[in-house]
Amino acid sequence: MAIPRILVIGGGAGGLELATSLGNKLGKSGRAAVTLVDRNPTHIWKPLLHEVATGTLDVDIDQITYRAHASAHHFEFQLGTMTGLDRDQRQVILAPLTDEQGEEVLAERRVGYDYLVLAIGSISNHFNTPGIAEHCIFLDSPAQANRFQRRLLEAYIKLNSPQHPKENLNIAIVGAGATGVELSAELHHAARELNQYGFNEMKRDRLKITVVEAGPRILPALPERIAAAAHQELVKLGVDVRVATKVTAATEDGLQLGDEFLPAELMVWAAGIKAPDFLKDLAGLENNRLNQLLVLPTLQTTRDSQIYVIGDAAGCPLPDNKWVPPRAQSAHQMASHVLKNLMAALNGKPQTDYQYKDHGSLISLSRFGTVGSLMGNLVGGAMMIEGRIARMAYISLYRMHQVALHGWLRTIAISVIGRINKIIRPRLKLH
Ligand SMILES: Cc1cc2nc3c(=O)[nH]c(=O)nc-3n(C[C@H](O)[C@H](O)[C@H](O)COP(=O)(O)OP(=O)(O)OC[C@H]3O[C@@H](n4cnc5c(N)ncnc54)[C@H](O)[C@@H]3O)c2cc1C
Repeated sequence: MAIPRILVIGGGAGGLELATSLGNKLGKSGRAAVTLVDRNPTHIWKPLLHEVATGTLDVDIDQITYRAHASAHHFEFQLGTMTGLDRDQRQVILAPLTDEQGEEVLAERRVGYDYLVLAIGSISNHFNTPGIAEHCIFLDSPAQANRFQRRLLEAYIKLNSPQHPKENLNIAIVGAGATGVELSAELHHAARELNQYGFNEMKRDRLKITVVEAGPRILPALPERIAAAAHQELVKLGVDVRVATKVTAATEDGLQLGDEFLPAELMVWAAGIKAPDFLKDLAGLENNRLNQLLVLPTLQTTRDSQIYVIGDAAGCPLPDNKWVPPRAQSAHQMASHVLKNLMAALNGKPQTDYQYKDHGSLISLSRFGTVGSLMGNLVGGAMMIEGRIARMAYISLYRMHQVALHGWLRTIAISVIGRINKIIRPRLKLH
């Protein structure tokens, strides 16, 4: 009898953890053929993208090559971009694969499955605001984060030269959620580091960062106390925080805020997410208004029990009429739950329901501090944490992802190498 084929699309915070556990548990013993498809050859944990954008992350340490990881964990990796689904044939359609010059390397392909897990994450939602798609950078992928980093460095090269002695570098960030807030603090950190590497003329007071938020306060998804603490820290750093301010358009030269124009050389849009557009009406599956695929509490889609969805792409209702939030901890929990349900399905056992557990939220203000809340029975609800403890809790989120991928020993080795690299290598990317 043919062994069941489990196909995971998207090797991000949720998908890569799931493919790794499936490979270890089922692929190794030949109980299932596990395949992971991703549009990129390498993985970087998405919550680190703001550090890629500022050049403060050591990508060589934190990047995983899918093909090598797959071979060590008994699953197959295929490079490709999903564009469609044939539910009758149980096949996923992958776009033609092209090289850098646009030459076709592989024609459109179909990959078959018995069980499919969609873990393709989300993209920025600019709500069709004029000019945003053309002029703003999004932090949806490592390629976009790298583009921002190159433009930041080019701006520093230009403004550090005697030809531009007094010009400021204006950076506007739209959206004061976790991404916008963390990016603005990380940019201040990068500016200090750049001063150490020869950009002495480009003094810190020439870097003008503005964060624009339509809502009445920053970090709308977090408790008010944490938002207030983070707001205070940003103001201390000199970030211009504008709440209750709506961006109505973007041009090459800046943002239109109603009647006011905010000049900016670099603009980042980090205000809201949606699932990729091709998920809308995908092979008759049900969506919500953010294009997320609706799932049952078992994380199977409402219309096809062979298809599971995890992470940001899943429209998973909560009992209070809200949705499971698009966070790394949700993707991590869903990956663990779908692992259990897939094992149950293969063993002819019933599916169980997923229950979202909110363990709290943490916001890293780079080396200037970390604030957040921890939730749980131990602390009797939500407890605000700050400083060193918050920093440790923040780092442990990423360590948990690494442990899920590599196990404890390797994770410890990676963190030791990371520390050594901090001593022997430049503290940020300078090319
Ligand atoms: C800058 C930033 C900071 C963040 N900080 C935090 C934080 O501090 N805490 C927190 O909980 N969350 C944070 N988040 C949110 C968190 O990153 C996401 O909720 C989480 O990564 C979602 O996991 P996922 O597995 O659903 O998708 P992702 O991790 O985004 O992975 C999706 C994967 O699918 C691949 N893919 C996409 N489309 C296709 C396709 N068509 N075909 C093939 N492959 C495809 C992508 O290449 C990617 O590898 C942050 C996000 C950003 C951008």
